[in-house]
Amino acid sequence: MQNPLFETQWPPDEVQDLIRAGALIVSNHSGGKDSQAMLIELLKISPAAQMLVVHASLGEMEWPGALEHAEQQARNAGLPFVVARANKTLLGMVEARFDSRPDVPSWPSAQHRQCTSDLKRGPIEREVRRYAKEHGFQTIINCVGLRAEESPRRAKAITWRKNETNTTQSRAWFDWLPIHHFNRDQVFEAIREAGQELHPAYGLGNDRLSCVFCILANSNDLRNGAVRNPELYQRYVELEQKTGYTMHQSRRSLPEITGIHIDGCSQEGQRTHEKKPE
Ligand code: SF4
Repeated sequence: MQNPLFETQWPPDEVQDLIRAGALIVSNHSGGKDSQAMLIELLKISPAAQMLVVHASLGEMEWPGALEHAEQQARNAGLPFVVARANKTLLGMVEARFDSRPDVPSWPSAQHRQCTSDLKRGPIEREVRRYAKEHGFQTIINCVGLRAEESPRRAKAITWRKNETNTTQSRAWFDWLPIHHFNRDQVFEAIREAGQELHPAYGLGNDRLSCVFCILANSNDLRNGAVRNPELYQRYVELEQKTGYTMHQSRRSLPEITGIHIDGCSQEGQRTHEKKPE
């Protein structure tokens, strides 16, 4: 099958062979546009009976309605939907880190994204293993809607690989980035052609969707998040103030980025992601 949105054969032959052999296609779904477009494309190549949609809930930290948006798309397609929950939250992780090591940066960084591994990847992999075992799937293709256009780092991501860590004697696990080649316009086009709506945050001007305040987000999304979620914003600003470290990878405090200040929170003495000099 040739997908006009791809320059090369899509899906790769190996994917087609594994689907024919009964592999489970797992569609990771944040509620964002890339996940949504990816699921639309996956439904073109896989029987629904071989699909699972999984959402890592970030609790209060994620945009309201993200879980429901992902669930609605799955339900509309007649697909099973599973929510993966971590036993901790991002702000809880930051508090715990600060309590145990106040001398080192308390927040996750682009280089050390414990938030992704502990709050998303780990819980998702646990739920996928459980689902595959319960339903007798021995091959898993775990799909993520990451795109090359998003960053130089993502452009270098390996689009197809066997995941040796999650592969066992009785289970083969592959990781696939099905829409790595999509540009932004193609994502929106796929959703429009499918007759689907985006999560409302895009209508409010957001570029991306996941945690309301992401360590990697652009200033537009952070400001939008602060305007629409003032109570959560205040908790982030207060925790920046308490830890003395900035949340964002730019090493600027949230009020500096958004221009929205919280009464009683001074930005004086704010440290950055960098370790303090000895
Ligand atoms: S959305 Fe950003 S802050 Fe939230 S878990 Fe992912 S990388 Fe971390």
